[in-house]
Amino acid sequence: MAICPLCNGFNKASFSCAQCGSTLEDSGRIIDYFDDYSAYMQIDDMKRIDGFQTTLQDNECAHLFYCTNCHTDEIKFIKE
Ligand SMILES: [Zn+2]
Ligand SMILES: [Zn+2]
Repeated sequence: MAICPLCNGFNKASFSCAQCGSTLEDSGRIIDYFDDYSAYMQIDDMKRIDGFQTTLQDNECAHLFYCTNCHTDEIKFIKE
């Protein structure tokens, strides 16, 4: 089974903020923001509805990134 390098601390992601160009901070997996199974299912539904099917199929790990400069949230998909 593939492992997300961010979740395992192998890698530091270095994404730039689309708004201001500052380095985004990894705030963790999206999944970790939901603490029960029904919420997890909602995420799956959201992915399908929003056209994120590739995330499910390719086992990408959705992370929430946060810009401390302009307080923007961005979701990035990390290849596991
Ligand atoms: Zn991850
Ligand atoms: Zn920013």
